[in-house]
Amino acid sequence: MDNKTIDNIVWWIPFKKLRNSVREYLLEINNLNNKLYQINDKINITERSMCDNYIDLYAKIRKLTPQGYIDFIDIDIVRHCNLNCYSCNHFSQLAKQEYYNIEIFENDIKRLYELSNGLIKKFHILGGEPLLNKNCKDYFYLVRKYFKNSSIWLITNGILLPKQDESFWLSCQENNVEIHPTKYPIKIDWDNIKRICSNYNVILSFFNDENVLKESVKTILNLDGTSNIFDNFTNCYLANNCLNLSDGKLFTCGLPANINAFNSYFSMNIKVTEHDYIDIYKAKDYNEILQFLAKPMPFCRYCDITKWHGIGRWETSKRNIEEYID
Ligand code: SF4
Ligand code: SF4
Repeated sequence: MDNKTIDNIVWWIPFKKLRNSVREYLLEINNLNNKLYQINDKINITERSMCDNYIDLYAKIRKLTPQGYIDFIDIDIVRHCNLNCYSCNHFSQLAKQEYYNIEIFENDIKRLYELSNGLIKKFHILGGEPLLNKNCKDYFYLVRKYFKNSSIWLITNGILLPKQDESFWLSCQENNVEIHPTKYPIKIDWDNIKRICSNYNVILSFFNDENVLKESVKTILNLDGTSNIFDNFTNCYLANNCLNLSDGKLFTCGLPANINAFNSYFSMNIKVTEHDYIDIYKAKDYNEILQFLAKPMPFCRYCDITKWHGIGRWETSKRNIEEYID
């Protein structure tokens, strides 16, 4: 309430003294009210920042806590890709043609089953682009052969989905595989793909938000390997979250699993040591694996995680090293 409003309220009071007293009284209430608003704002800001701190702390504790079981594992059945994304964090736009050997894959899945007794909630079959592997459907049968109750998601850019033959769709149907495409700003007839999925009774749900244009994220590395591994690990949304299985090795994230493509392309030598993964054939039990995944690894010193950022649009890669440095 401003002074003019208060004047408009008190003007009719016939006695000047009384009118002035009421005016002062209203002014006082008004001031008090403004102060209360300011205090309320401060409380809201404090509450919000306490809430943010709590969420941040919770996320850090979660990463450093061995989990009761594995929530999901990423398995790159193909290293290379048919889409050339800027600063891809699997380095797939730099990778040579390479597939997960299917016999090794089966052994690895079997070993994971023995260790976990089937207690892995979900498998992500991805890449690179998984559909570049002509036997993609066979990998579904192998996961389902051992893990009867786990979810299986195919994560694809969708380009090759319309080209899949009936045997692929039947494998999805029989093995209860869900298709979770990442939607990039490229021309794909999604209505047609949705129709095919519906005909085969296969679940299709976009991995990212279908209605928001995909944005490229700059994956910034510290090539000197001088970053603080604890800070990186505890601030990293991939750590102890996006586990990656690669030829019998289980990593807490996909970067060390795929760094070879970066090293070969740019003639670099970012080292992956035996302390960066757990060998599933040497691990004595599930607990040892869960404990290993919850601790920072030496490879984290090559990341600059707090500098990773969206670039505001999706871009194709020029395959130069600037995409990975600050
Ligand atoms: S971000 Fe995905 S689609 Fe893009 S290059 Fe990497 S693996 Fe391929
Ligand atoms: S290596 Fe990098 S991406 Fe992986 S957990 Fe460590 S900080 Fe995160």
